[in-house]
Amino acid sequence: MSIAFSYAGSPARIVFGDGASKTVSEWIAKSGAKRALVLSTPHQKADAEALAKEIGEPVCGVFAGAVMHTPVDVTEIAMKVLAETKADCLVALGGGSTTGLGKALAYRTDLLQIVVPTTYAGSEVTPILGQTEGGRKTTVKDVKILPEIVIYDPLLTHGLPVQMSVTSGLNAMAHAVEGLYARDRNPISTLMAIEGLRAFARSLPKIVQAPDSAEARSDALYGAWLCGTVLGAVGMALHHKICHTLGGSFDTPHAETHAVMLPHTAGFNAKAASSELAPVAEIFGGSVGGGLWDFAKAVGAPLSLRDFGLTEADLDRASAIAVENPYWNPQPIDRQAIRQLLQNAWEGRRPT
Ligand code: NAD
Repeated sequence: MSIAFSYAGSPARIVFGDGASKTVSEWIAKSGAKRALVLSTPHQKADAEALAKEIGEPVCGVFAGAVMHTPVDVTEIAMKVLAETKADCLVALGGGSTTGLGKALAYRTDLLQIVVPTTYAGSEVTPILGQTEGGRKTTVKDVKILPEIVIYDPLLTHGLPVQMSVTSGLNAMAHAVEGLYARDRNPISTLMAIEGLRAFARSLPKIVQAPDSAEARSDALYGAWLCGTVLGAVGMALHHKICHTLGGSFDTPHAETHAVMLPHTAGFNAKAASSELAPVAEIFGGSVGGGLWDFAKAVGAPLSLRDFGLTEADLDRASAIAVENPYWNPQPIDRQAIRQLLQNAWEGRRPT
């Protein structure tokens, strides 16, 4: 088949390496900003304060109020802090929740964002913002949302608990797997997806054995950058749609839900996208779904939706919601097929 594609490279500056977070102040200076507001979750407040101290003079405040799914009321409180501190740039230290708050603020103000990621979620390299208001999660895509500078410092991820490293890694891998069969994929997104999957296949088992392995932590964060970039570049399908439904309507935990669902959604699409998903079978061994499931089990990932407190009645409702607004997927979907897929994931069955 002859080659045809459309490609736009991300304009973001990526800085990667052990100790790279020590360069945040340099990047603030280079960008011409003078007053930085440092963001984090309450859990990472001490780390944010340490980073603020490291940055020094340009810091005008620390706001440690970020929470999961970017509630608009938290963003509104942070907007007041922005006004009081007269910040002209944002430094987000943390996972997808803190990055989400920074993006929500940038969406409203167009302030420069510097993100220092500490999980593998990948939000820092996408122009997408998911925010919640009145229990409803909506998604917006805008150039203002894409962070301008991302500083990956693997040393900051050594403390990411093993279980979170595993689920966050599988969350990242899901971006790559769906990127492989995306209709708008291009040769670069495919290369990045395969390299990202290889990085996690190498690093996650090592992190389980030795959470402080500098080599494995570096490799996993490298994988996170690659997989996140794929998420930011091409369209997602069944897997992300189902995880969005489960997280949005049933409040299941974000990374864990991706971890449980990935082998099932990939296995569901394996036949319809057999050549696109061939690298997955090659990297993880065996069939697409079975290979991913064996890998997830070997690294101690959760395997069953039942463990999140979902009931079988919830699965009926989830399958109805998941097919409400039709979307493209390599394997055409219907409510019955989704219901069966959810049943398998609920029971923790190995896909064939
Ligand atoms: P998170 O950011 O909520 O982090 C989970 C918890 O772990 C938090 O308490 C956090 O402070 C803590 N934590 C983070 N890094 C740590 C570290 N190194 N050591 C110890 N604790 C650490 O979780 P997440 O999975 O990174 O992000 C999930 C959120 O990101 C969801 O709201 C999801 O929708 C969003 N997301 C958005 C995109 C996008 O492109 N818009 C992509 C991926 C995820």
